[in-house]
Amino acid sequence: MQPIFLNKKMIRKTVKKTLLTTGLLALSLSTFAQQGVKETSETAVAIDTINTRDKYTKIVLYDNNTWEYVEIDKPNISDEDFAENWDSESIHAFKDVPLSQLPDSVELCLADSLHGWACPKIGAVNSSWKFRRYREHKGTDIDLETGDPIVAAFDGKVRVVRNSGQAGGYGNLIVIRHANGLETYYAHLSKHLVSENDIVKAGEIIGLGGSTGRSTGPHLHFECRYMGKPFDAERIFCFQTGQLRDTIFTLKKHYFNINSHYGQTEQQSIAANQRVIHVVKSGDTLGALAKRYHTTVKRICQLNNISSTTTLRLKQRLIVREGTI
Ligand SMILES: [Zn+2]
Repeated sequence: MQPIFLNKKMIRKTVKKTLLTTGLLALSLSTFAQQGVKETSETAVAIDTINTRDKYTKIVLYDNNTWEYVEIDKPNISDEDFAENWDSESIHAFKDVPLSQLPDSVELCLADSLHGWACPKIGAVNSSWKFRRYREHKGTDIDLETGDPIVAAFDGKVRVVRNSGQAGGYGNLIVIRHANGLETYYAHLSKHLVSENDIVKAGEIIGLGGSTGRSTGPHLHFECRYMGKPFDAERIFCFQTGQLRDTIFTLKKHYFNINSHYGQTEQQSIAANQRVIHVVKSGDTLGALAKRYHTTVKRICQLNNISSTTTLRLKQRLIVREGTI
């Protein structure tokens, strides 16, 4: 299987910037405004660049009094690549896609010579992808101090920017969709520095770390999702060292299970995703079973169609964990 990239356009123009005095620049600009010259010569030498309202589009001035718009350092993605399932109103745009529709395995090209990467925040992992305090923790918590810069993991387009109070426990949240097929979530920020529909480059500062939303102290809650389904982000990055684990990432369907995490063997991950039956022994309680199998009393009751007050029978077979594939 070939690694996928959603983008089709591979347009990249670069122009070296040459310093120019302010006076000459002003003179040149007024000349261009009067003449309206738009053609450029193949042999002309670029003498300066001027910013425009679009951060990737510059006006390049040439020594023969001509100029042109040039895209500089623009990520290799285009708006058309993101048209499908694009929804800035919903935090999770793919919520209606069932897991059964996802491939068993997909190869994602995370980085190559045209597509960069950057660890969103280098730091200690305070809490990883796991079942935690009776709920699923579907992200990685990275330690930081309020105000620390948070950067985009890959080139992409900002799909969601939410203020604290509009995004549940996430607090100030940014969601970016990437050309490699992933979406990344950056939560608990103290400040946003991008807007919805902005094109961002890997490594670009998108916000500042904080402790907004459901948070007990400053940290970045970072999620990686494919087709809206989260998996352990530590499979992609080593946050302690800031390294990308590999440029090609093979995403397996069983990775979406909360009990499947980085560091397991393939067999351990598959086993973590399968239905588990518990045969009731003397002294077992629903609460103790929920704790032991990293689930909730409510979930066990749902799976077995019983209530939380049901008396367990010896040798009763209880589904304590449901497989998700
Ligand atoms: Zn978290």
